[in-house]
Amino acid sequence: MKTFLSVLLLGYSLCAQDGASRVASEALKPSTLESNLRMLTDQIGGRVPGTPAMEKAVQWGVAGFKAAGADSVTVEQFTISNSWAEGNTRMSVTAPESFEVRAVSAAWAPTLEAKRHLPMVDVGEGKPEEFAKAGDISGALLVVHSSEMHKWEDLFAEYENAPGTIERAVKGGAIAIAFQSTRPHDLLYRHTNALAGEIDRVPMVLIAREDAARIFRLLASGEKLYADLEIPNRIGGRFESANVVAELKGSERPDEYVVLGAHLDSWELGTGALDNGCNAALVIDALRAIKASGLKPKRSIRFILFSGEEEGMIGSRAYVTTHRAEMDKIAAVLVVDSGSGRITGFATGGRKDVQAAAARLMGPVKQVDSQVRLTTGAESGTDHLDFFFEGVPTLVADQEEANYLINYHAESDTFDKVDMPQLRKHVAETAALVFALADSPARVGPRIHRAEIERDMRETHLDEDLKATGIWREWENGMRGRQD
Ligand SMILES: [Zn+2]
Repeated sequence: MKTFLSVLLLGYSLCAQDGASRVASEALKPSTLESNLRMLTDQIGGRVPGTPAMEKAVQWGVAGFKAAGADSVTVEQFTISNSWAEGNTRMSVTAPESFEVRAVSAAWAPTLEAKRHLPMVDVGEGKPEEFAKAGDISGALLVVHSSEMHKWEDLFAEYENAPGTIERAVKGGAIAIAFQSTRPHDLLYRHTNALAGEIDRVPMVLIAREDAARIFRLLASGEKLYADLEIPNRIGGRFESANVVAELKGSERPDEYVVLGAHLDSWELGTGALDNGCNAALVIDALRAIKASGLKPKRSIRFILFSGEEEGMIGSRAYVTTHRAEMDKIAAVLVVDSGSGRITGFATGGRKDVQAAAARLMGPVKQVDSQVRLTTGAESGTDHLDFFFEGVPTLVADQEEANYLINYHAESDTFDKVDMPQLRKHVAETAALVFALADSPARVGPRIHRAEIERDMRETHLDEDLKATGIWREWENGMRGRQD
């Protein structure tokens, strides 16, 4: 009987895989993937929530999903606690030498009225012992060293080191912090250290790597350096932004669903092509491919373009809060958010049960790229996180760095950086995988409970990342995540 049942299940999963293979080949056909992405990046441009560009992007998402053949498209609003835009940030070293410094404000950092003749203090990389060595920092402009970024780990370190530096700067009464850019050749990028759209505690700028290095050399030679600094950010109150949610209805269990998601918002120095316009376009094209295959999976699939990701995954968190009653109905969530570097695998956030079950659905993905693996890795920096906190099985695309890191949040994150042939393969892989997840007779795993979620976080050391960025507190005090 057991053998008969497993033959039957194998038969079913082969059927699901046949369907998924058809979806994958549909995805590889010519489509509006590239023209959609051109419109989002070249025509609409950088998309910060609260700006007209973000509103146009939401309309772009609605129109794209409709054209792709969605059964329904909804715009779901949520609020962000403060609006923020950069003014004309200016910094210059004034004495004893005098030169302009290329600087941009950190996002969601407070305004600083024009200050003259601020003493500059080198605080190394911002470690406690370096602050201790620097001595009195009250009234000073702190300058913080960075290493050049090459690997994902370098990027995570940048986010994890900042909160401690800020804490020590505030405690010591510093006026502002200038962080050295992690990219060479004068490249600037938008960084935020705020967690959820709140205004940060101290004015902060990011300064060109070469300007910072010049400042460090002058300070190291024993000079007392002074700077003028002005950060006239425009800060407003609460405002609404919106996620775009499209659905293809399932044939047998339409109230259950799988999510394919990517964030639609971006920073605005560039046009948000690698982060994350290309994957927003991917989500729309995945819907197009599944619809065009003529197949209907057993469960529904929701295709979600989140807003407010860059401000702290605010849109996906809002989705989870609004749809909390449906969490048992979500079979799986797949999120893509690392540019167009080759997908090497899908990470299950420490869930071994999900990994084993999902591996059986990977056939069609491997037809596109035989090297794609499932891994048990866990990460905290994108829109799967609040679903993960609810115990829902999540998959996050692991991708090669390719050209992502040098252009990350930078002026240079533009359409020309996107590897279109690779992106099209990713459409095929993700569309095939969400189809298989939605069509498979059994789910890849149950919704797990709080204790199990926490165990997975500790086993993967995700708890350490979350402690460094401050998110852990919200898990710990029950502001986020499954309660039982
Ligand atoms: Zn992103």
